[in-house]
Amino acid sequence: MPHVDTHCPYCALQCGMRLTGTRVTPRDFPVNAGGLCQKGWTSGELLRSGDRLTTPLIRRDGELTPASWAEALDLVAAKLRELRSSHGPDSVAVFGGGGLTNEKAYLLGKFARVALGTSQIDYNGRFCMSSAAAAGLKAFGADRGLPFPVTDLADADVVLLAGANSAETMPPFMQHLRGAELIVIDPRRTPTAELAALHLAPAPGTDLALALGILHAVVAEGHLDKSYVDLRTAGFDEAWHIAAAWWPERAERVTGVAAADQRRAAAMLGEAHNAYVLTARGTEQHATGTANVSGWINLALALGLPGRAGSGFGCLTGQGNGQGGREHGQKADQLPGYRKIDDPAAREHVARVWGVAPESLPGPGRSATELLEALGQERGPKALLVFGSNVVVSAPRSRRVQDRLSALDFLLVADFVLSETAERADVVLPVTQWAEEDGTLTNLEGRILLRRKAVDAPVGVRSDLGVLRELATRLGQPAERFPVDAPTVFEELRAASKGGTADYSGVTYDRLRAGEALHWPVPSAEHPGTPRMFLDRFAHPDGRARFVAVDHTGPAELPDAEFPLQATTGRVLQHYQSGAQTRRIPELVDVVPEVFVEVHPDTAARAGLVEGERARVRSRRGETVARVRCVASLRPDLVFLPFHFPGEGRANLLTNPALDPVSRMPEFKVCAVALSKVDA
Ligand code: SF4
Repeated sequence: MPHVDTHCPYCALQCGMRLTGTRVTPRDFPVNAGGLCQKGWTSGELLRSGDRLTTPLIRRDGELTPASWAEALDLVAAKLRELRSSHGPDSVAVFGGGGLTNEKAYLLGKFARVALGTSQIDYNGRFCMSSAAAAGLKAFGADRGLPFPVTDLADADVVLLAGANSAETMPPFMQHLRGAELIVIDPRRTPTAELAALHLAPAPGTDLALALGILHAVVAEGHLDKSYVDLRTAGFDEAWHIAAAWWPERAERVTGVAAADQRRAAAMLGEAHNAYVLTARGTEQHATGTANVSGWINLALALGLPGRAGSGFGCLTGQGNGQGGREHGQKADQLPGYRKIDDPAAREHVARVWGVAPESLPGPGRSATELLEALGQERGPKALLVFGSNVVVSAPRSRRVQDRLSALDFLLVADFVLSETAERADVVLPVTQWAEEDGTLTNLEGRILLRRKAVDAPVGVRSDLGVLRELATRLGQPAERFPVDAPTVFEELRAASKGGTADYSGVTYDRLRAGEALHWPVPSAEHPGTPRMFLDRFAHPDGRARFVAVDHTGPAELPDAEFPLQATTGRVLQHYQSGAQTRRIPELVDVVPEVFVEVHPDTAARAGLVEGERARVRSRRGETVARVRCVASLRPDLVFLPFHFPGEGRANLLTNPALDPVSRMPEFKVCAVALSKVDA
């Protein structure tokens, strides 16, 4: 039977796999070297799912009922025209996703700015990558999750993982860390922490105090790389002015991490020949997320790691196209090429590629959480178009999100299954999924990959690209402005990205088909790509990286008498994001069928709860019911819930929408809760 070499539909590692029909086998690709996790192994079942949407649905008398494509598209276009003419272009908002291909993310941004003329577009990567991106831009002048290939990690002596549970979220990645001693920063004793030479478990929301304590120890114990700091960085004195006051004993009082352990971490990093500092969602998804990441970058800079062969700093991107998804213009403040939307030169360049006047392009819009909060409000959007996202499960304070969606005049969802967000839509459009069409993605190391078509989409399903063209033409746009095949869209994306930070102009489908390892920037067809960034200079005009002066402030919400515990949310091996895909795979559901809450046995006993019982978890924003798992290694002041589950089991019914002032990341990782028996 013929086979197709492609990539996994889920996380940013983008493991190489072979599809024979819908049967998955791993293949030898640098990031996974023949490995796949349970999600990847079972991903072929997504292509056989009986749950698949194959016809548009229109809500009539309160029920979603089948309709023809023409009927559904005409209805959507009429509604959008009506709202735009009554309330202006910003009355229509767009919400994209970090799982969309580069081509879809690009065309969605263009559709919003050109066909709708709205500034109101953002995407779910705001919930995932935004703090790391903001801190990376400040420090290095460019944001590429890992500015080096994953395989470089094999030479590391020591790797510090701040808030990364990779052994559970992307297991094949761990083989690259086999030769290294691990320092794992996580309030939970995760499967990754189990592998660590040193596990530091700070109180939730105190990551930055810990980073400052370790930085203090690095300098005090003589591990500062003075010549690197002098030659390659700026701003050390301001950052040290703050860190100087964070001697490890002070950091111990705030974080609960022993001063001796902080000094040990500093010594392990300082004495290593090759070392890396890597961050992930655990330290990023906070109302102080950008400052937290800046704290870890400051530590890496003091040790002289970023931009040095064999060492470095990076962040482990989460969503499948979490990197590409933030480069091509579906973000509220961005144009393609990772350009700023308020930069006149960027507007000029992109407008020329799009064949429109620069002044016709709207300015920056609201960030994801603020956009959802504005829906249906007097000055907010009246309609929302959702592509590749399930905000009812994945956004913070999700009961409120549900209410805001109900306040809309019109909700369109394009998806391949009836997600919890699609269930609430006025119109649902059935679209293709991963192996049903060609497209490119950019993995966590900035490598552009070709995800190939392996099977035909079911009859009745269309590509998101085709949907955007149909809507754009109904809104008066020329058809040729919205191509429907991915290679043609990619050609335009290349031109739009040319000269930008994320320059794809030298990448072609032919080069990708030939298997070239192209990491951006790739500024010409002859250019070999840039697997390692910053070796000579950082992307700031003076070539130097920046220390950023940051200080600990703590979480937005602290425990009190009514809500005495802290809750943190995260992922499990078997499920991905909102679970809309993995909750449809029987093998995965068999292992983790429903939401659970990890609780220390003493905390459970105090609440009168026993293992396996259903517990009520309440916060100031709502409550959820979850099955108790007693975990003796957990801090007694902490509970943990995975966020992949729907209905009353949504962990995000609890979470705090307090936003990071720079990245606008909500505080998913810490909120105050109370735990009780369900019948209490
Ligand atoms: Fe690899 Fe991630 Fe897919 Fe698992 S989910 S197989 S780690 S790409």
